[in-house]
Amino acid sequence: RPLGYAIVGLGTYGLGVIIPQFANCTHSRLAAVVSGDPAKAQRVAAEHGLPARSVYSYANFDSIRDNPDVDIVYVCLPNSMHAEYTIRAAKAGKHVMCEKPMAVSVAECEAMIAACKRANRKLMIGYRCHFEPFNLEAMRLARSGAAGKIRYVRTEHGFTQGSPSAWRLKRALAGGGSLMDMGVYSLQAARYMTGEEPIAVTARESTDRRDPRFTEVEDMIEWTLEFPSGAIAGCQSMYSANQNHILLMGDKGRIELEPATRYDGNHMWTGRDGREREVTPPAGPAKTQFAGQLDHLAQCVRSGAEPIVSGEEGLRDMRIVEAIYRSAREGRTIRLDGRA
Ligand code: NAD
Repeated sequence: RPLGYAIVGLGTYGLGVIIPQFANCTHSRLAAVVSGDPAKAQRVAAEHGLPARSVYSYANFDSIRDNPDVDIVYVCLPNSMHAEYTIRAAKAGKHVMCEKPMAVSVAECEAMIAACKRANRKLMIGYRCHFEPFNLEAMRLARSGAAGKIRYVRTEHGFTQGSPSAWRLKRALAGGGSLMDMGVYSLQAARYMTGEEPIAVTARESTDRRDPRFTEVEDMIEWTLEFPSGAIAGCQSMYSANQNHILLMGDKGRIELEPATRYDGNHMWTGRDGREREVTPPAGPAKTQFAGQLDHLAQCVRSGAEPIVSGEEGLRDMRIVEAIYRSAREGRTIRLDGRA
């Protein structure tokens, strides 16, 4: 049978994006919902034919251990709650899919990995771009030398914030500003497109602190990653404009995506010898990137394989995120390779 997911947090992403995607899955199905709003949870459960015993609140969440219909818990909560619910899920004997950013600190990521290891459960991060056809094709083209040796990556991600009261703009819930949200896409892209781990980072933050949205967290942050091959990535995120772009410059040409990492409607072209060519990627591993992501963890649970975007991958990003913030704060380059 398809493995059962419990969705924790019935917000824009959990309810609006993920739950409808089970219809596109082969190995996964919706098995339970966890919400602070009982009326909403019951309505969603009824719509999807879930029994009353598969509706949980945050208070009785731990009793999910007794529900054999639930194999995997998917944490779709504000960032600062990811660690707590991942660890509680693992203790309840469930595998975990956790949304990005994995948590709000390296220490939390390490605790999440340890809890899942101790419980002998899988932990995967919701890095959907690893299942998205345009990003997969760009990775393949970059690796196959379609643009020559990659020398430079440029990537910007942002989305305009509205109300200053949103949790994304509260440090205690978000852990930071645009870097903790859209910045994760820029950072991930720099790493998966080059296939390298950065050895140093230099960052600069630019925020108008008079803007009521940005009293607690950053708006714009730019950072440069240096890779062992000599490639450089100029990355950026912001909360005061919409942007979604990845450019790979090689010594023989370019690969460019814009929009690059959206839910759908991404667009890609290559440029070589002065000629641009639009690229239509082959179909991805599943009907949609979301179904690919959901089914990947289900298949890993079955086979025992490690997810391609495991907790360790989330931890790698969080180490760099902490270095980005530190670099911006201290105004200097931070080495990531242990060298002085
Ligand atoms: P949202 O605000 O729409 O939903 C958050 C849910 O958490 C709501 O149902 C809310 O009621 C619940 N919640 C519980 N305690 C809360 C508290 N103390 N404060 C605020 N909300 C609380 O947010 P979202 O956009 O669904 O984001 C949820 C997570 O999903 C975030 O970590 C975000 O980064 C991630 N996300 C990922 C993607 C992606 O493409 N992978 C897209 C959007 C969001």
